[in-house]
Amino acid sequence: MATENAKPKQKVPHKARKWPLRWAARISLFGAMLVLSLAIYLAFVVVRRPPVSSGAARRQPSPSATSPPPTYTATRTPTPPPTVTPTPGPPRVGLVAGHWKNDSGAICDDGLQEVEINLDVTRRTAKLLKEAGYDVDVMAEFAPELNGYQAAAFVAIHSDSCLNLPEATGFKVAHVTNSAVPQEEDKLVSCLWSEYGQATGLAPHPGSITRDMRQYHAFRRIALKTPGAIIELGFMYNDREMLTKHADVVARGVAAGIRCFLEQPAPPPNSN
Ligand SMILES: [Zn+2]
Repeated sequence: MATENAKPKQKVPHKARKWPLRWAARISLFGAMLVLSLAIYLAFVVVRRPPVSSGAARRQPSPSATSPPPTYTATRTPTPPPTVTPTPGPPRVGLVAGHWKNDSGAICDDGLQEVEINLDVTRRTAKLLKEAGYDVDVMAEFAPELNGYQAAAFVAIHSDSCLNLPEATGFKVAHVTNSAVPQEEDKLVSCLWSEYGQATGLAPHPGSITRDMRQYHAFRRIALKTPGAIIELGFMYNDREMLTKHADVVARGVAAGIRCFLEQPAPPPNSN
């Protein structure tokens, strides 16, 4: 009976104790789940966020970063153009055939016109430079393209008067006064002096460089950074044979001068 007696005694309090226990278990389970989900959320947030560090350190990307670097949309502020414009493809050379499509230039008594010589030599020079891999523009005296013209080199090709005087022989080269790129233009002029003289055997005639040459209209029209020069190939009376019968040699001299400027990093060596 002891068992019979004990049974009802134990039954009621057992039932009464079980009810709050169940709720406690449910609450603790809920709490555990809450803590677990919070932990998962925190872990997710921490992994995605980059480590908080000082501003200076943030600018340096850490090499151990596992995530790929963020892509930035290009928001460029206008920057001044670089001093040396890298030209994709072959360098461009601009040539002006003096007086072409404008006037005759100097004229000899027999009707030989300066523009004929200039155009012939300019076209031959362009051909030689193209064969050497350059992009070449042959332009008229007042070509609209001259405005802001950009190239690795620019040369205007003219010839001198048809004066029948013993001293009227030889060639000359000049660049603009107050050059924006004096070092480059000095080199271009120096290359033309040496290479053209060497190719043609004509003597330099620097004494007759006029203000018109240094203030040549195209120098004020081409881009400031385009190195430009003007060459007077020779005098149409005394140097006529070279200018008309050996135009190929004349053109080779001009092309060699331009190539010397574009291809030689240092001033040309004084070789034979
Ligand atoms: Zn001329």
